[in-house]
Amino acid sequence: MSTAKYIWFNGEMVPWENAQVHVMTHALHYGSSVFEGIRAYKTPQGSMVFRLEEHVQRLFDSAKIYRMNIPYTKTELMDACRHAVSKNDLDSAYLRPLAFIGNVGLGLNAPKDVPCEVIVGAIPWGAYLGEEGLEQGVDVCVTSWNRLAPNTMPTGAKAGGNYLSSQLISGEAKRHGYAEGISLDVHGHLSEGAGENLFLIKNGVLYTPPVTACILPGITRDTLMTLARDAGYQVREEAISREALYLADEMFMTGTAAEVTPVRSVDGIELGEGKRGPITAQLQKAFFGLFDGTTADQWGWLTPVKD
Ligand code: PMP
Repeated sequence: MSTAKYIWFNGEMVPWENAQVHVMTHALHYGSSVFEGIRAYKTPQGSMVFRLEEHVQRLFDSAKIYRMNIPYTKTELMDACRHAVSKNDLDSAYLRPLAFIGNVGLGLNAPKDVPCEVIVGAIPWGAYLGEEGLEQGVDVCVTSWNRLAPNTMPTGAKAGGNYLSSQLISGEAKRHGYAEGISLDVHGHLSEGAGENLFLIKNGVLYTPPVTACILPGITRDTLMTLARDAGYQVREEAISREALYLADEMFMTGTAAEVTPVRSVDGIELGEGKRGPITAQLQKAFFGLFDGTTADQWGWLTPVKD
């Protein structure tokens, strides 16, 4: 397990081992937390946080859906993220802001307007599905677990409780020897991976499930849609059938942790040439180019860690 020296905890930097909560914490019992995953990259211009503002906005959006009261401003939390990287002497890092209902009693609904507790952790973290996966592509399967139905729990909120669904999806896939599991929505259309959004490429066109397919609208998904359109590709958000997976020329998954990971097979069926495809490689290069300086950041996506 990766650790660091400090965690930002309710406005202060506290030593890692002192960042503790009580066992009666509401979120521990009822999943009442919202969180983010953000990466900071080492770039030629110094350490940069990727799409910090959008991630912090999504944290506040998730909290709004659950009527949770985050007692900090967006600017304060953006500063906390940057500080969590620099205070731990990291230049690349995975950041974990988390807002949760604390030890406020066991009533299912927390008392109105009770402030959340908030932490920001920053740890070193490499390629989520492995360095080799980024180059060779990974083998995935469709799991037997559907993604949450839209009128059960909102997948547009990045809430702790949603990740029980993700654990079932990825756990089943891993037990069967796959790198990751992908799920269908309750209507049987393609939804998303346990922690990634999906892109298929067919005849030079990119396809990705729409937000109505019960996905988390990923910030990396938005990044890749922008980079692909910028490179002249058509990107379509539309309902995708399961069999379209098997017939795709190329496929990749996106996420803050997974970055841009090519998929070389689904359910044991090879896609295209059974390795990373050329358009995937081109878009991967454009994505990682944002951090090695070969793709100009014309969108203002990088925020310096240091003032
Ligand atoms: N879907 C789920 C369920 C996720 O957990 C994630 C990771 N946050 C994503 C998609 C990808 O989102 P992002 O690109 O914003 O990290």
